[in-house]
Amino acid sequence: MSFSVRRSDSPRSAEERAAILAAPGFGRYFTDHMVRIEFRDGAWGEGVVEPYGPLTVDPASMALHYGQTIFEGLKAYRQPDGGVATFRPLENARRFQRSAQRLAMAELPEHLFVESIRSLVDIDREWVARESDDSLYLRPFMIASEVGLGVKPANAYTFLLIASPAGPYFPQGVKPVSVWLSTEYTRAAPGGTGEAKCGGNYAASLIAQAYAADQGCDQVVWLDATEHRWVEEMGGMNLYFVYGSGSSARILTPALTGTLLPGVTRDSLLTLAHDLGYSTEEGKISTDEWAAGNASGELTEVFACGTAAVITPVGSVKHAHGSWTVGTGEPGPITMQLREKLLDLQTGRAPDEHNWMHQLVSA
Ligand SMILES: *Cc1c(COP(=O)(O)O)cnc(C)c1O
Repeated sequence: MSFSVRRSDSPRSAEERAAILAAPGFGRYFTDHMVRIEFRDGAWGEGVVEPYGPLTVDPASMALHYGQTIFEGLKAYRQPDGGVATFRPLENARRFQRSAQRLAMAELPEHLFVESIRSLVDIDREWVARESDDSLYLRPFMIASEVGLGVKPANAYTFLLIASPAGPYFPQGVKPVSVWLSTEYTRAAPGGTGEAKCGGNYAASLIAQAYAADQGCDQVVWLDATEHRWVEEMGGMNLYFVYGSGSSARILTPALTGTLLPGVTRDSLLTLAHDLGYSTEEGKISTDEWAAGNASGELTEVFACGTAAVITPVGSVKHAHGSWTVGTGEPGPITMQLREKLLDLQTGRAPDEHNWMHQLVSA
């Protein structure tokens, strides 16, 4: 199977592209092409690679009114041999299907998801930087495109894939973030859409992020909706807690209760931490246990993880009644070791023992 291709007649020149790749930031520039697949009359149409550009959207398109929109995020990395590979794309394809199911949208077959990525990266391969920790961020998404204001699952959907060059998340070196424990707002409630990667979850989170910023914090930490006690996630990333140090360290991440987004990075780190000889656990941690573990010195490091930033150390915590510094306030050794391990694997500097890399373009 391969998609039909309509090449851009005005792609960026090599000079323009080089200028963008020299300082891409995150999500600010897009490559020359995109992929589109339409779902109509109960079936997916042909995949099309076409020039990147504005969409024509009917103002009564259902996505604009009732929020049937879902997305994914993954990265393509230049490999040492000059080829391009991505990391565990089938995990994203399956999560995209689960998100679609939760939002009563059409499910895109896995092979179309993966082929869309392959065809876009194939045509826009020069947008994958050759700098070691740079990458091409891939953003698959789907919107309800049926026209009408009746409230019901749409019968037409548009799947799109766009790509954006991404520089290193911490160009000045890894810097810990400060977090606000949010008791004012919740991200997800039992039976809600917390497990789905849908636009609405992010829309609902923005006010809490703004509130955290007003308290002088970089990021918001989400607690459970019922007791406001159990730690769930940080912004759009999963969390990890490190107890002890050295080879006897124990690493805990909040269990997937239905209100957490099941991150591919989170899942991969459970395996990589185990490979490094640490004991790992999916469990529960309350804000009181976090404070107490920190005070006793038993809890040594905390970090967040996700595709965009890979691993971000948490340096300090603030809440309505106080604050504390996490460990030394500096990036911890296990945090940095796991970060290196994952980046080495994704950029092909380390052997791919778990068969997680998926080649998109050969050297
Ligand atoms: C996407 C996302 C994550 C991280 O998932 P990855 O697959 O690791 O990128 C974590 N939390 C939320 C809320 C997310 O939307």
